[in-house]
Amino acid sequence: MPRPEPTDDDLRAAIRGAGLRATRGRMVVLGTVITADGPVSHAELAEALGGFDRATVYRNLMDLADAGLLRRFDVDHVWRFEALSLEPGDPRHPHFVCTDCGQVECLPVMGFEVSERVPAAVAARQIDVQMRGVCDDCR
Ligand SMILES: [Zn+2]
Ligand SMILES: [Zn+2]
Repeated sequence: MPRPEPTDDDLRAAIRGAGLRATRGRMVVLGTVITADGPVSHAELAEALGGFDRATVYRNLMDLADAGLLRRFDVDHVWRFEALSLEPGDPRHPHFVCTDCGQVECLPVMGFEVSERVPAAVAARQIDVQMRGVCDDCR
């Protein structure tokens, strides 16, 4: 899903709205995650932002996630980040992980029935759902 490129004003407003100082680094990191093709890892982002110090990129990612602008989730012990601001996605959507190339894609929200006794977090949908299989490119 292509997202519209946010303006610097959009980014500044979103970051300040979350109670953070709108530093250049945070604006660049947030803007890059928003326009990324799917959830990105720190390594992918650091490579895309070659001019930025890796540790700074990591700290900015964590700050933006803690402030609620990014969602952070674990895929095979690597954090992935996606934007929840500006164009709010439903945070309950599941992800598809390719078992071949490792690409992670967002999926639409899918309903499911809970008939047995399950942990409260499952009943409340406070869970992270990942589906695994081979992506279209790798088939
Ligand atoms: Zn693949
Ligand atoms: Zn997603």
